Amino acid sequence: MEMFVYQVIESNQLYLSLCIEVDRVYWRKRGADIAILFSTSSIGEAYSWIQNRKDQYIMNGKKPVALSKYHQLFLSWSSLEQEAEKLFNLLQGRALLWSELISFLHKKNIINIKLTLLPILQLLYLENRMEIKPGVTCNDVIYRWTCHRCMSDRKYLRMTDCATCGKQCSMCEQCIWLGRSRTCTPFFLFAPSSIKKEKLISVKPLSLTAAQQKVCEQILSFTQSEEKQFLLWAVTGAGKTEMMVPVIAQIRSEGKKICWVTPRKDVVHELQPRIKRIFPQERVLALYGGSSDLWMEGDIVIATAHQLWRYFQAFDLIIVDEVDAFPLYQNIALEKGIERALSTGGKMILLTATPPRQWLEWSRSGKLPSATLSARYHGHPLPVPKLIQERRLWDKIENRKPITPFNHFIKQVITYQGQALIFVPEIRRVKQVLEWIRENGHGHLAMAGVYSQMSNREEVIRRFRNVELDCLVTTTILERGVTVPKCFVMVLGADNLLFDQAALIQMAGRVGRSSTYPYGEVWFLATERTEGQLQAKKQITYLNRLAKKEGFIRKEAYYQ
Ligand SMILES: [Zn+2]
Ligand SMILES: [Zn+2]
Repeated sequence: MEMFVYQVIESNQLYLSLCIEVDRVYWRKRGADIAILFSTSSIGEAYSWIQNRKDQYIMNGKKPVALSKYHQLFLSWSSLEQEAEKLFNLLQGRALLWSELISFLHKKNIINIKLTLLPILQLLYLENRMEIKPGVTCNDVIYRWTCHRCMSDRKYLRMTDCATCGKQCSMCEQCIWLGRSRTCTPFFLFAPSSIKKEKLISVKPLSLTAAQQKVCEQILSFTQSEEKQFLLWAVTGAGKTEMMVPVIAQIRSEGKKICWVTPRKDVVHELQPRIKRIFPQERVLALYGGSSDLWMEGDIVIATAHQLWRYFQAFDLIIVDEVDAFPLYQNIALEKGIERALSTGGKMILLTATPPRQWLEWSRSGKLPSATLSARYHGHPLPVPKLIQERRLWDKIENRKPITPFNHFIKQVITYQGQALIFVPEIRRVKQVLEWIRENGHGHLAMAGVYSQMSNREEVIRRFRNVELDCLVTTTILERGVTVPKCFVMVLGADNLLFDQAALIQMAGRVGRSSTYPYGEVWFLATERTEGQLQAKKQITYLNRLAKKEGFIRKEAYYQ
C-alpha cells in the first residue's frame, strides 16, 4: 500500500495519507492546497518521517510546491461522506490492524468495498474520527521502539525480512497470536461512540445476601463518584457475579457499554451464558482466541485480557476479574490495553480474593476506594487450613513410605464421600504422588493427575467435575479453576516457594463453596512452616472474624 506524507501549503501541519486524492479535495474545499513530501510502502517509515522532520519543515519555513497531477476520485464527495459515516458506525471504539480490519469487513459481509476503503479511511482520518499509526514504531532511538497495538517495548520486537514491504521490518512477538503487528502494517484507532441512549433494562430478579447488598451499594455510589478505580476484595465463593448485576444494570440503563475481563478462557465460557440469562435482552459476547463472537457488536463483552488490545475507549465500565492472577498481574502490556479500552471518564472495578499487599495499603490509605466482602454467599465461614509438618516429606513420597496425616486426610474424604483435590508444586510430582497414593493402600480410589501441558486436560477436569474421580492430583493450574460440591484440599509441599499466600488462599478456597455442603477440609502438609502458609491461615481467620463481627455468618454455622 502506498502511503504519503504531505504538508498543507501555508500551514505547519504534516499529514499521512492512504489516498492522496481525498486529501486534495478535502483541503481544496477549505481553500488550501497540499504538497507531497514523501512517499513509501511502509506506514512505519511515513510515521517516523513525520516524527523526525516535523520541526525541520516547520522551522525552515520551506514552501513546498503543490503537485498538479492527481487521479480523480471515482465516487462523489457526498457518497464518500455517506459511506464513511456507515463504516464509522460499525467501527467505533475499535483498535484494529489492517488485517483485522479486512477480517472485520468480511465478517460483516462488506466485500465490495475494495476501491472505496482507502478513501473512506482517509476521510475518517481527516475528520479526526480515526487515528493511523504503524503496528510497530522502530526509529533510530531504540528505547522508543514500541508496538502500538499491545504497547510492548523493544523487548518483544524483532527485526525480520518482511515479505509485505520488501524491507527490514520490526515485528511484535507479544501480540503475535492476534495477528502480526509490524512496522509496515497500519493500525487504526477508531473514536468511540458518543451517543449513549438511556434504556430500560430487564434483569432476571436475584436475591442478594445482606453482605452482598452492602457491597453493591458501595459499588453503585463509586460509579457516581469522581473516582476511577474500585477494589472489591471478595472471599472465594462470595458470589461476585451476582454482586456485579446491579452495577451492570445501572450502567446499561445509561446506554453505556461494559466489559468483563477475566484471565482465562474457561471463565469466559462459564460466565457468558450466566450473564445472558440475567440480562436476556442484552447482547452478551464471549471473546477469546478463536471465539465465534469475534467482530460482533456487544453491550456486555466477556473477554480474556488480550482481546482488549482490539478496543479503543469503547467501554464505560470494565470489571477486571482475578486481577491479581496470571496473565494480568504485573503485565504492563495487558494493563495498558485495558486502560486504552476504557472510555474517558470510564470506571474500573478490580475483583480479587487475594489482593496484593500493596493494594491493601493503597486501600487503607484511601488512595484506592474499596470494599471487603468477608462472607461467602451461603453464610458459612471459610475453611481454615490445618498446618501439618512432616519431616522429609518428599523423601518419604519418593521411597513410597506411608505418611500418617495423609492417610487420615484420605480417610476423612472417604467418610464424607467427598473428592480430594491434591496440589503438588511441580509437574514431575503428579505421577509420583499418584503412584505413592496407590501403593499406600488407596488403590481402590478413582484417581487421575492433571497439569498444564497435558493434552487431555479438559477431559480429566470434566471427569472430576462429574464426580467420576475420587481424587485428582494437580499442579497450580487448578488453583482457581475448579469447583466441586464436596471438595477436600490437600497441599503437598506447601512450603514450596511457588505456593505463596495468594496461591494457598485460592487453593483453600476450593473447599466448602456449595450451599448443600459448605464444609470440607484444607490441609497444608509441609516439611517447613513458611510465611506463605502462616499468612494464608492468618488472612482466612481474619476474614472469618470480620464476617462474624459484621453479622454475615449464619448463627448455626458458628460451631461447624
Ligand atoms: Zn504487539
Ligand atoms: Zn514490512
